[in-house]
Amino acid sequence: MSAALARLGEDGRLTLAVPSKGRMSDPALRLCADAGLSFEATERSLVVPCANAPVDLLLVRTDDIPEYVQDGVVDLGITGGNLVVETEAEVVELLELGFGRCTLAAAVPDGSAAHALTGLGGLRVATSYPVSTRKLLAGHGVEVELVTISGSVEAAPRLGLADAIVDLVSTGSTLRANGLRRVGDLLSSQAVLIGRDEALEEKAEIVRPLELMLAGVVAGRRRRYVMMNATVAELPAIRSVLPSLGAPTVLPLADEGQIAIHAAVEADQVWQVLPALKAAGATSILVLPVERLVG
Ligand code: AMP
Repeated sequence: MSAALARLGEDGRLTLAVPSKGRMSDPALRLCADAGLSFEATERSLVVPCANAPVDLLLVRTDDIPEYVQDGVVDLGITGGNLVVETEAEVVELLELGFGRCTLAAAVPDGSAAHALTGLGGLRVATSYPVSTRKLLAGHGVEVELVTISGSVEAAPRLGLADAIVDLVSTGSTLRANGLRRVGDLLSSQAVLIGRDEALEEKAEIVRPLELMLAGVVAGRRRRYVMMNATVAELPAIRSVLPSLGAPTVLPLADEGQIAIHAAVEADQVWQVLPALKAAGATSILVLPVERLVG
């Protein structure tokens, strides 16, 4: 460990490890910025101080982060939930962050006789995630011969290296393109904020507001603020189709009998809700992003 790393956090500042490259890096840095941290990360920086908070970002490899948090190199980290399982790091999962979603799934060549996880018993299974694969398959009562490879796992059956694979899947198109059929899922994963018990206690005064701000952004991204106009008489019908967070806000308009209705709606329900609102009489419907939602 470099001298700079060894000194990290000694001045009472909180250190947060963030992926330096790969698919999680940009979304993790964007989340920190959206949560209100002010920093300038360049490709070459390792330690990035935040100007407006006692927080330093440490830009490191995604798969090193669980161990860095466990060993106290940093206080908190953002990494993939599956990597916490794979490294068996002793850390606390504080928050699911809503990006980096994927599934650790098992797949076999199209012609294989296996049609479920139980069909993998005794087969050679190629994976880059041997610890999770062994543990999660054992949970299904399945024992396999593991072939650990670090990349292009989907090519292993074609190369004669394995009879099946266990790999991270998001859309499934890589599997299909390689003539593989999914036979079962072992783990759902997304990016998570992790911490270490001692750091959470020692630096609680920095951890708590940081966690609150991150959680506020994650919750806000899942919602849209929907505003519309209607008549007072239409309110019951509109409320009945509005799956809002608590009661909607109802405001009188300057015209007699006219109201504005505001509500925070789950983002993935908006496409169903809008036609129903229109049918119930709502007009001038506006849908706005929610920057933060602090419950
Ligand atoms: P990286 O290798 O830095 O791109 O990050 C790998 C991590 O990104 C994995 O351990 C997962 O937590 C996460 N991830 C999200 N979607 C995928 C995917 N489709 N394939 C591989 N990793 C994914």
